[in-house]
Amino acid sequence: GMASPALLMRVVASAYSVAEKAATIVRNVMAAGDLGIVEKTGANDLQTKADRLVQMSICASLARKFPKVTIIGEEELSTDEVTEDLIEDGHCEEILKKTCPAQYTGIKEEELVIWVDPLDGTKEYTEGLLDHVTVLIGIAYGGKAIAGVINQPYYNYEAGADAALGRTIWGVLGIGAFGFQLTEAPAGKHIIVTTRSHSSTLVNECISALNPDSVIRVGGAGNKIIQLIEGKASAYIFASPGCKKWDTCAPEAILHAVGGKITDIHGNSFQYNKEVKHMNSAGILATLRNYDYYASRIPNTVKQSLVP
Ligand code: AMP
Ligand code: MG
Ligand code: MG
Repeated sequence: GMASPALLMRVVASAYSVAEKAATIVRNVMAAGDLGIVEKTGANDLQTKADRLVQMSICASLARKFPKVTIIGEEELSTDEVTEDLIEDGHCEEILKKTCPAQYTGIKEEELVIWVDPLDGTKEYTEGLLDHVTVLIGIAYGGKAIAGVINQPYYNYEAGADAALGRTIWGVLGIGAFGFQLTEAPAGKHIIVTTRSHSSTLVNECISALNPDSVIRVGGAGNKIIQLIEGKASAYIFASPGCKKWDTCAPEAILHAVGGKITDIHGNSFQYNKEVKHMNSAGILATLRNYDYYASRIPNTVKQSLVP
């Protein structure tokens, strides 16, 4: 019979279904109306019941299937028993049918690190900006983001009851990315997408120095990468610490799978091995095209303020 699919493809196929289950939890918590908001480091760093339940669901579901994989989730949770209703054991058949790139066919469970942001854009979720929210599952090997799943639970929520609510985007380096229509940003225009709830003088100084045609301020690292691959923005620029490895791993894999580039503000690539510092201290610069245009215009004063 057929050889069984490579581990990487089985992990991505499972992560796809696990992310869809996560999206259902995100919508159910909001519909029930009790968000159970907890402040972590402050009023701009929140956790809700959805962040907690989704992290338990994703981590427990993937750990059950792939017990030797390292899974790192954003939320610090007490090691409560995870109830069985949170477990997802399905997978996406279409992903299993894709051929694993040759350089990844020999990967073993203990060599993979999965970075989980159960709910990216929590601040916006609590404010009803629902399409800013994503669920992020990033898969790293050899310190590199090689595959990822981004679920957007409220995609289409303003498009009316006929439109299908929610979508799942996935990608693997060497295969490509799926679940959306790759679109170029308007030619010759510099449209910068950045934070809406974590601005600072430095964040705004950096954007001003680039003299953009327009600035889009939206929540979520996952959401901002979607703005790039769907041609809404030409660069994602965030000259500040604050984003963590679980914010960037899945988005990086998907952006790189379609030929884009993401680094810190100095141009350093991100590392995703399990021992790495979680904080992306030197900010974010990401583009689908024309990375060098933006990289060459980041002011030195901004760079000097952000130590990797
Ligand atoms: P934003 O673009 O503000 O939505 O941020 C993208 C991701 O980084 C979200 O997960 C935020 O929670 C996180 N983040 C960015 N800046 C901060 C900060 N100053 N404190 C806590 N989290 C932050
Ligand atoms: Mg996040
Ligand atoms: Mg989060």
